Amino acid sequence: MEAAATAAGEGRRVLRELFGFADFMPHQAEVVDAILAGRDALVVMPTGGGKSLCYQLPARMLPGTCLVISPLISLMKDQVDAAATTGLRAAFLNSSLTAEARRGVEAKLADGALDLLYVSPERFAMPDFLARLRRARLSFAAVDEAHCISEWGHDFRPDYLDLARLVTDFPRLPVAAFTATATARVQDDIVARLGLRDPYRVRASFNRPNLFYRVVPKDRPTDQVFRFVQARPGEAGIVYRTTRRDVERTAAALARHGVRALPYHAGLDDEVRRRHQEAFNRDAADVIVATIAFGMGIDKSNVRYVVHGDLPKNIEGYYQETGRAGRDGEPAHCLLLFGYGDLARIRHFIDPIPDEAERARALAMLREMVRFATTFACRRRRLLAYFGETLDAAPHPGCCDVCAGEVERIDATREAQMVLSAIARTGGRFGIGHILAIVTGEATERVCRLGHDRLPTFGVGRDHDRRHWRLVVDNLLAQELVRQTDGEYPVLELEPAARGVLFGGEPVSILRTRRAPAARRRRAAAATDEAPYDEALFERLRTLRRALADEQGVPSYVVFNDRTLREMARTRPTTEAALLEVSGVGAARLARYGAAFLAAIREAEGGARGGAVNGDQ
Ligand code: ADP
Repeated sequence: MEAAATAAGEGRRVLRELFGFADFMPHQAEVVDAILAGRDALVVMPTGGGKSLCYQLPARMLPGTCLVISPLISLMKDQVDAAATTGLRAAFLNSSLTAEARRGVEAKLADGALDLLYVSPERFAMPDFLARLRRARLSFAAVDEAHCISEWGHDFRPDYLDLARLVTDFPRLPVAAFTATATARVQDDIVARLGLRDPYRVRASFNRPNLFYRVVPKDRPTDQVFRFVQARPGEAGIVYRTTRRDVERTAAALARHGVRALPYHAGLDDEVRRRHQEAFNRDAADVIVATIAFGMGIDKSNVRYVVHGDLPKNIEGYYQETGRAGRDGEPAHCLLLFGYGDLARIRHFIDPIPDEAERARALAMLREMVRFATTFACRRRRLLAYFGETLDAAPHPGCCDVCAGEVERIDATREAQMVLSAIARTGGRFGIGHILAIVTGEATERVCRLGHDRLPTFGVGRDHDRRHWRLVVDNLLAQELVRQTDGEYPVLELEPAARGVLFGGEPVSILRTRRAPAARRRRAAAATDEAPYDEALFERLRTLRRALADEQGVPSYVVFNDRTLREMARTRPTTEAALLEVSGVGAARLARYGAAFLAAIREAEGGARGGAVNGDQ
């Protein structure tokens, strides 16, 4: 009898030859083995964890076609192009195909000429397609973004419910479900709704070591975003804003300054949205400014930063959105602008929730988010704690702003007392603007009319500017010493805990961003970077990649990802054998792109040597 194929044996050979990878990433081998053994599986891995390989590899090794259900039609072509460049026989079926193209794919399915067939959930549920599937030889089904089946998830898609038919209509077909959603509730829901049978369950760590987390006080968000983006020319980034108006404004401001930025939100035409998403995925735009409300499909691995211009509603959402950065494992930056004003905005949506338990849950989640933004300790630890994980390794400077020493905690007891006293003495009936006018001694018409310029607190805080006081108030709000009422004219009121500060001498500290000395910033950057590489060569290879990708109408990462290019720029391979050693270069990619990249590297080598000789003379 033939020995059963395993990840360790045949799998490793396919991993090397086809994908060009020397080793499996954590958990990949066990998932591959479960699928090869014909078991159902539930695979929970963070974005960038390497989920696609978990089904693509067994799809290649098992006889028959692997049916991949994927929710985003707009990304299917790119996914298939990427699989095909790896040397897999892959195709997709969705509403974007012409009748002729569809028939071509159906014929390949019937002939057993496909390793992978990507379909949308709607397509799967069509009666004539189901009939075709019954006649075809299938190896297993892979359900991508499986959390879309759960109403508890952040991306519920009713048509995912049809996928229960995978198990009922194809009882002998193993089903592997994949998601990056960390909550247990959603995972259990996936198993129940899909009807998975004693699935092999994997939950990878949600730590993303290559992501650097930073939170800074929100001041003028559009400016702040611009300065951040401007410092990273040519890098791919996503900027999230809450409202469509802010999306439009931010994108326009970036574009005005020459940044290739495009907006993306539900108010745009379908066609415009599709075009913008595609421009970003194909590196024709560097920055996409988007609301989170609408399912934007981002499938590129070289997103170097994610900026949140506004506070997300909960950690889960924040984690998913920041997760889009650095899928290629290279360092990436997550910046959150935090201002208390955003809390009031979110409360505006939470407070009217009729179900009390649901409302309390939403509030608790918001509180966790605020804790993350205002923590005095490592942010990565806090984030992982939310997912029930503890961090093994000691935090390092490349971990987050707190670990990098950029955030300082300063005593602000006296300042807190000044603000609290101004609120108390005016009866908790005034908004932030008025309270700060009193503290900073601004004799506005209203302040004078109400006689507030005669209060003992009037002007006690003159020696600091309004921005500083705004920071103090934000911290008081975040620490729940003060709260802001809802409605059209929100006012500041004291929370019970404020008494301890006003009358009991309880200390208050606030967080402030410290400008890191340049040396420390450099150290922090170095800690996240790997060995040095030839940047000029990297740029040259990037240009070549772009030209090849454009020529073939595919996104750049389909050719090679950033990590692979960087490794080429580091090791400068000049022979096919040496190029094959580079992670991400498999036989199919070598055949297709090897010569062009080798020529570019050789040329650069020649140029560099020539330059050195000239320089010596
Ligand atoms: P996910 O779908 O979980 O977000 P992907 O499947 O997009 O992750 O993989 C993330 C990145 O990791 C891709 O660039 C992919 O090529 C790379 N990758 C996957 N498996 C391996 C491996 N075994 N070794 C090195 N890189 C890998």
